[in-house]
Amino acid sequence: MSQKSQTCFGTKSAKPLTEYDSKQEAQQGANHANKMYQQNLVPYQCDKCGQWHLALGNRQTPSKPCHRCTGTDGKFKEAYQSREDAQKRANILQEEQGVTLGVYACEHGNGWHLTKETTPFNKKKRAFK
Ligand SMILES: [Zn+2]
Ligand SMILES: [Zn+2]
Repeated sequence: MSQKSQTCFGTKSAKPLTEYDSKQEAQQGANHANKMYQQNLVPYQCDKCGQWHLALGNRQTPSKPCHRCTGTDGKFKEAYQSREDAQKRANILQEEQGVTLGVYACEHGNGWHLTKETTPFNKKKRAFK
């Protein structure tokens, strides 16, 4: 059964998201909506409530780890092939997790990275003073 979420809202629409108990149910809901409205919805499991919601598909944002840049967690950052891909991924994360991420070009020419810091380069410049 699907129902309206009590905890999760679309960040753009501010409407409650539809939640499903299982991936199968979410997939059925997605198939139905995709047929009816010619959308491209895909199920995903929510970090916040653990239930399944639907998100607009085309979430494939090709990326590979950059072997030069590490994030605050010490892991190599994901490098996206184009600014559009990086921005798409940032939008998805904002929609799903409510985090605001900035897109910037890799210093080593390996593509595009996301950062939680909105002004990564200003910080760096200050460090040289
Ligand atoms: Zn949720
Ligand atoms: Zn990099």
